[in-house]
Amino acid sequence: MNSANTTTRTASGGCLCGAVRYEVHGPLRSVVNCHCGQCRRAHGHFAAYTKCARGALRLVADRTLKWYVSSATARRGFCDRCGSSLFWEPVHEAGVSIAAGTLDSPTGLHTSQQIFVDAAADYYDIDESLPRLPGSMSR
Ligand SMILES: [Zn+2]
Ligand SMILES: [Zn+2]
Repeated sequence: MNSANTTTRTASGGCLCGAVRYEVHGPLRSVVNCHCGQCRRAHGHFAAYTKCARGALRLVADRTLKWYVSSATARRGFCDRCGSSLFWEPVHEAGVSIAAGTLDSPTGLHTSQQIFVDAAADYYDIDESLPRLPGSMSR
C-alpha cells in the first residue's frame, strides 16, 4: 500500500531546452505577477510566479540548473544551457517560487495578484483588474 510519504504529482514543467525538468507533489499557489526590477531583468519582463513548499518540488533533471544569488535573501534558478529562468528561492521561507511560464499545460492556475507595481517599467500597462499587494516577495 501507499506509504504516508507518497504524494500525487500536481504539476510538471521544465526549461526551454528540456535539460531541467521538475515535478510538483503538493498544492500550487495561484500566480502572482512581480514587477520588481530584479524580476524584470531576470525574466525579460515582469515575472509570473506560482509557489509550492520546498519539499514539494522534485527536480527530475537538473544537470544544467544553476543558481544565481540575486540578493542577500534569495537566489534564482536558471538553465545554463538555454537561459530559462525557473525558480526564485528565498533563504528564510519554506517555499520556492516557480516561474509559471515553465509549467506544462494545462496548469489549472489563474493569476490572482500583483506586487511591486510601483517598480513596473513604463512600456506596458498595469492590469488594474488584479489586486495589488505591497509585496516583499521578490527582493
Ligand atoms: Zn534549458
Ligand atoms: Zn520580483
